[in-house]
Amino acid sequence: MRILVVEDEPDLRRQLKAALTDIGYVVDEAADGEEGQYLGENEAYDAIVLDIGLPVMDGISVLERWRKADLKTPVLILTARDRWSDKVSGLDAGADDYLVKPFRMEELLARVRALIRRAAGLPSAELACGPVVLNTRSGKVTVDGAPIRLTAQEYRLLAYLMHHPDKVVSRSELTEHIYDQDFDRDSNTIEVFVNRIRKKLPVDIIKTVRGLGYRVEAPAGPDAA
Ligand code: CA
Repeated sequence: MRILVVEDEPDLRRQLKAALTDIGYVVDEAADGEEGQYLGENEAYDAIVLDIGLPVMDGISVLERWRKADLKTPVLILTARDRWSDKVSGLDAGADDYLVKPFRMEELLARVRALIRRAAGLPSAELACGPVVLNTRSGKVTVDGAPIRLTAQEYRLLAYLMHHPDKVVSRSELTEHIYDQDFDRDSNTIEVFVNRIRKKLPVDIIKTVRGLGYRVEAPAGPDAA
């Protein structure tokens, strides 16, 4: 899962990136509206955190351009405490949620998780596939309750597949959602990561769909494991 943070205050931007990275997301940052607008429209994100008070281009204009360009990515806006009207303009411009500064980082993380979950149509913060459970709150994976140690990239790959159950996800789509913009991307490494995950999980939940990509099956009933 890949997140874009558009925030001009360096300290807050750094804190947002650290907190989001900590729970398993890969994060790109932009410090002004123009750069943010460009990245949002040209890179693949699973959610965007957008400050409203931004230099060069304000957050409302950025959001309006995205929605006009038919960008459907969920967007959480950050508004200043004394600017209640920004919430209204932001939601009307196509924001999915908002937070008023100052906010608790835990709340922001919970809201971002909820946006991603809602966009994927998933009901819970714990994603299960048979005995494999991915906890999006902690960024941890367990099998029958026993923790599995995954690298950050392995986790992000598995998380992306588990957020899109029953969907065939191509290697290039996975590449776009597990690396940040500065990474030298190579879709051949996806196969390497998938094989490593398969070795670490006692059950094989990632199906290869020849020539197309990978698929994790949607969880069946409670007695599926
Ligand atoms: Ca600002």
